[in-house]
Amino acid sequence: MKKFAVIGYPIKHSKSPLLHEAGFNEMGIDASFEAIEVSPDELGDWMRTDFPDYAGIAVTIPHKEKIKDFIDQLTPAAKSIGAVNTLYRKDGLVIGTNTDCFGVLKALQSECPELKNKKALILGAGGASRATIFALKQAQSIITCWNRTEKKALKLVDEFEINTVSSLDAIQSEDFDIIINTTSVGLKKWQSPVPANFFSPSNIVFDIVYDPLETKFLSEAEQTGCQTITGDKMLVYQALEQFRIWHGIALEPEIMETAFFG
Ligand code: NAP
Repeated sequence: MKKFAVIGYPIKHSKSPLLHEAGFNEMGIDASFEAIEVSPDELGDWMRTDFPDYAGIAVTIPHKEKIKDFIDQLTPAAKSIGAVNTLYRKDGLVIGTNTDCFGVLKALQSECPELKNKKALILGAGGASRATIFALKQAQSIITCWNRTEKKALKLVDEFEINTVSSLDAIQSEDFDIIINTTSVGLKKWQSPVPANFFSPSNIVFDIVYDPLETKFLSEAEQTGCQTITGDKMLVYQALEQFRIWHGIALEPEIMETAFFG
């Protein structure tokens, strides 16, 4: 039986075992998927002594950057994003990739199939923002980034050739087709990174936070009449891409969606 796992700290909240086990059941794959708590201090030891037993692992906060020290090769996506969320083995090597960018892209395309030349406002400049920017650059969208700590947004300007704004007061939401929250604002709290009257009805609004699914950010966008996309879509699509990498199978999204809401 092949073994898979997600490692993080903490890890109790992770939906990865649920999503991947649904895939194993559907496809009759003889494999296990564990959620393993690995503290930052333990990461090196865990990779040396435990990882050899696993065919692949998912990597979550806080290890997405540090894990690069234990990998033979990075994919171009992982290199550009600077973070790894998936490890797999190929020709005896450990490869690190990032499927969050795939998740973002597929989630956005569920409401907006053509992203070329679409104007996107990205709120946040952390790891998830980098995956989002990478995905939208590939899709040839026109990107503006705002972040609470401006210095971090400015760093992305040089790396990805995007625009930034120092203040949300300096922009009009009607100038954007897509607005994406990649900050952690709204996670387990009824808070939004933008004022309630920020949105315009023509905006497609995506919140990558999925706990809760209906965030204040999305609720206020809906009240304005915007099309909205919830964070479960990104989570499911990034897991589907992991499944494809590990098992060579393109699973139907509904299988993992059902497991998510299970
Ligand atoms: P991260 O690297 O720690 O970045 C956090 C971002 O949130 C930074 O831009 C930070 O701004 C901003 N932020 C935090 N508190 C803020 C506040 N009070 N006001 C304004 N901005 C604030 O985290 P991450 O890995 O990018 O993850 C961000 C969120 O995305 C998390 O909620 C995570 O669960 C979610 N996520 C979802 C998926 C999915 O599949 N749906 C995948 C990955 C991540 P500063 O730079 O100013 O600190």
